[in-house]
Amino acid sequence: MTSLNTSRTPDRIDLEAPTPTGMVDAFQRRITYLRLSVTDRCDLRCTYCMPERMTFLPRKEVLSLEELYDLSTGFIARGVTKIRITGGEPLVRRDIIDLFRALGRHLVSRGGKGLEELTLTTNATQLDRYAHDLARAGVERVNISLDTLDSVKFETLTRRDALPQVLEGIAAAKDAGLRVKLNAVALKGVNEDEIEDLISWAHADGHDVTLIEVMPLGDVEEERLDQYLRLDTVRERLEQRWTLTPTSANTGGPAR
Ligand code: SAM
Ligand code: SF4
Repeated sequence: MTSLNTSRTPDRIDLEAPTPTGMVDAFQRRITYLRLSVTDRCDLRCTYCMPERMTFLPRKEVLSLEELYDLSTGFIARGVTKIRITGGEPLVRRDIIDLFRALGRHLVSRGGKGLEELTLTTNATQLDRYAHDLARAGVERVNISLDTLDSVKFETLTRRDALPQVLEGIAAAKDAGLRVKLNAVALKGVNEDEIEDLISWAHADGHDVTLIEVMPLGDVEEERLDQYLRLDTVRERLEQRWTLTPTSANTGGPAR
């Protein structure tokens, strides 16, 4: 097992010195939430996210785990209380569990100072392998992206035949005691007829669900405008089946 060298070296920027006011944006909002992208690589190729032949950053331009750790502790010292590890696919980064372990030591629940939540967003393909280690590192919740329970559609959407692996990952997360929130991108003509079933399945298995509108992010080969589905439309459909009540739950992001 490798572990992260978290001892400071002189040439690193001193991010430790706390700023008394923390960080505040131009609208006077306190910055307490950090999303940390640890890689741009991924083992899936979701059609709305990246092309099959993706050009990734040269490795030397990607921060080392030590640098990501230093950066994170600098943010914690400046008032960040929640860190979400994301990517690309964070769990394909070699030795990523070492970063979780090192950051986990800053969790208030682990006797640390400042960090109230450490979490991740993942496609779950590697969760079967990592779920228990993540829980041991102090992760309590995980966001998992899943747009369909249909293996053919899954392969079309992600260009990989990995649905069974993802479902095993979700089961492993549950088994490890991690709370799961599923993120599903609502796609016109792709999974729009399946959203209710996806929600029913998730709720029956004890998971929350957040629906996402497809956005024009990154260079992809396919035309995303064809797939754009307003969530207002989805909401109207869901209201025909269920009574919806607004939730006060706040993810720290823009989701409502
Ligand atoms: N690989 C991880 C995963 O898929 O969960 C983490 C990174 S992924 C970029 C984070 C989220 O962005 C996923 O829930 C994915 O569905 C969403 N996403 C990616 N491209 C998107 C797009 N064009 N529009 C809306 N959501 C998108
Ligand atoms: Fe990979 Fe996540 Fe992008 Fe899908 S959405 S290709 S799983 S980074």
